[in-house]
Amino acid sequence: MRQKIVAGNWKMNKNLDEAKKLIKGIKKGVKDGLNDNTRVIIAPSFVNLNTAIKRTKKSSIEVAAQNMHQSKSGAFTGEVSADMLTDIGVDIVILGHSERREYFGESDALLAEKVDAALENNLEIIFCFGELLEDRKSGNHFNVVESQLKKGLFHLKKEDFSKIVLAYEPVWAIGTGETASPEQAQEMHAFVREIMTKEYGATVANEISILYGGSVKPANAKEIFSKQDVDGGLIGGAALKAEDFLAIIKSI
Ligand code: 13P
Repeated sequence: MRQKIVAGNWKMNKNLDEAKKLIKGIKKGVKDGLNDNTRVIIAPSFVNLNTAIKRTKKSSIEVAAQNMHQSKSGAFTGEVSADMLTDIGVDIVILGHSERREYFGESDALLAEKVDAALENNLEIIFCFGELLEDRKSGNHFNVVESQLKKGLFHLKKEDFSKIVLAYEPVWAIGTGETASPEQAQEMHAFVREIMTKEYGATVANEISILYGGSVKPANAKEIFSKQDVDGGLIGGAALKAEDFLAIIKSI
């Protein structure tokens, strides 16, 4: 079912104490303030997931991991498996973030493997995609997005999409202060629904939630979220302050 979602990707920020404080602040603001169809998700670092799970148990806040390894287990020093996540109560994972693609060399093919491993473990996936500045400048952004979705997700069955949330994050808008205009976001989200319709039919395309990410802040969230095909946001910097994150949640 298509849902409104505000997800905070904390990236490599917040030590334990800071994470506890931020969770407390978000919890306080979120209490009873949400309508039934809105979800609030936070994605702390691996080491703070357990604490986040425990401290959000009695709230409506959900917890996601920022990444995972595609294998079940084994000699993969420094990695975390899907099973380790579900074991501590995490049932959502972010995959395909542009920082993973760019700094850790995660290819479309690898992401397709991670997607399969996540679904096998019944994890919900927030699947990120988005073009570089040069792609947009050269007018290639639609092709890039289509290719990322095809290679990462289009091997899946129709039913699998009930476990997938899409997140369009144009790389040029991440952490730069430069947001895609609400019209640019809407245009790409509508395009994504169009290619989803072609591949999987109108029901899947209309039911999937598509989030926008890239310099969303309290000042611009309302306008971006007001667009027809934008179902919420994946928030980086502004998710690190309870006050800002709550203001963004209220904008939906
Ligand atoms: P910013 O909101 O800091 O631009 O980051 C967006 C993002 O990458 C969320 O995953």
